[in-house]
Amino acid sequence: MKSSPEEQERVMTLQTLDTSLTQLAHKEKTLSVIQALEILTISHNSTRDLIIAAETEKADIKHELSKSEIDVEQVVTRIEKDEKRMASGTASPKELEQMQHELASLNKRRSELEEIELEVMVRVDGIDDRIKSLSVERDQFKLKMAELDAQKTKELTDIAEAVSSANGQRADIAAKISAEVVELYEKIKKTGDGIGAARLIEGKCDGCHLSINAVELSKIKETAADEIVRCEECRRILVRPKGF
Ligand SMILES: [Zn+2]
Repeated sequence: MKSSPEEQERVMTLQTLDTSLTQLAHKEKTLSVIQALEILTISHNSTRDLIIAAETEKADIKHELSKSEIDVEQVVTRIEKDEKRMASGTASPKELEQMQHELASLNKRRSELEEIELEVMVRVDGIDDRIKSLSVERDQFKLKMAELDAQKTKELTDIAEAVSSANGQRADIAAKISAEVVELYEKIKKTGDGIGAARLIEGKCDGCHLSINAVELSKIKETAADEIVRCEECRRILVRPKGF
C-alpha cells in the first residue's frame, strides 16, 4: 500500500494520540480518589447505622424510664393516701399497725424504684454521649467525602478535557491520511492491543520489540519510501526512520 513518508509520520502521530486515549480511559477507571471515596462511604454509612441503633436504644430506654416514673408515682400516691388515713385518726389500732407495715414496704419499694430510675437516666446520658461522638465522626466523614467528591469531579473533568483535546487532534490528523491507510491502521490496532503502527528502532520493531533479521532488514531497505512496510512478526505498520 502506498503512503508518503510524511503520511506515515502522521500515522505515528495518530498512534501516539490513540495511546494517550487508552491511557486516559485507564486512568479514568482507576482513579485512586474513587477508591478512597468508596472506603470513606463505607465508614460513613457504618457510623450512620451505629447512630440509628443508638437512637433506637435510647428510645427504648426512655420508654423504660417513663414506665418506672409511673411506677414511682403510683407508690407515692399510695403512701400519701395511707399517711392521710393515719393522720385522720379514724383507723383502729389494728388498721394502724397494718398501715405502718404497708408504709414501710411502700417506702422501700419507692427507694428501689427511684434507684432504677436513676440508673436508667445514667444509661440515657451514656447513650447521649455515644450519639454525640458518633455524630462528630459522621460529620467528619461527610466533610472529607465532600472534599474527595470535589477532587474526583476535578480529576474527571481534567481527563474529559484531555480526551476531548486528543480526539480533536486525532480528527485533524486522520483527515490528512488517506482513508485506505486509516482503515488498515484501525484494523491492525483492533487486533494488536491498541497498537496499529510502530517505529523501526535500531533493527527492532517497537510494536512487538522483536529484532528483525538481516535478510528482512535489507528487504525493508530496498522497499520504496512511499510504500507501507509491515513487521513480519506482529504485522503492524512499521514506520522507518528518515532515509533508512
Ligand atoms: Zn512487530
